Amino acid sequence: MPWHTLKRVPGNPYGVEVPWRTHKRALTDPRTLSGIGNAYSDEILHRARLSPFRQTHQLAPDETARLFAAACAVLGEWTDRLRAAAPPDGLPTGVTAFREGFAVHGRHRQPCPVCATPVQRIVYAQNEANYCATCQTGGRLLADRALSRLLKADWPRTVDELEALRRPRA
Ligand SMILES: [Zn+2]
Repeated sequence: MPWHTLKRVPGNPYGVEVPWRTHKRALTDPRTLSGIGNAYSDEILHRARLSPFRQTHQLAPDETARLFAAACAVLGEWTDRLRAAAPPDGLPTGVTAFREGFAVHGRHRQPCPVCATPVQRIVYAQNEANYCATCQTGGRLLADRALSRLLKADWPRTVDELEALRRPRA
């Protein structure tokens, strides 16, 4: 859908009528929001306590407010941090998609800074989402399509079940 056909909607967290899709896609689509990539969309959704695969049409009013506040807070904080860390000539060095201090992005299996649950990663198409099951999906693991096809009914439902599968069997 070309950008100019998106209808402006006051009060919508994206400012425009977003086609029915996941928040992860909506946040990383430059037609709705410019400059938010894979890393910051993970960070924003974690801060908003929303599942990356929740659909844009399913947002309750309190979730809309949370998403908007989270996007402003995360982008504001990181702008300040990156400005403070920039060398005097203003040109950042070592540009990377991963930054020390991210809550979930690039932190697969490391503890969530809010609740200490191991961070989950799901890979799909050419993208990936990193999330905390406790903070964002009510403890439910999002099934990785390829893996869940492979494991069928054996796909673990919770982080504890998944970690138990990973533990070497005695
Ligand atoms: Zn968490």
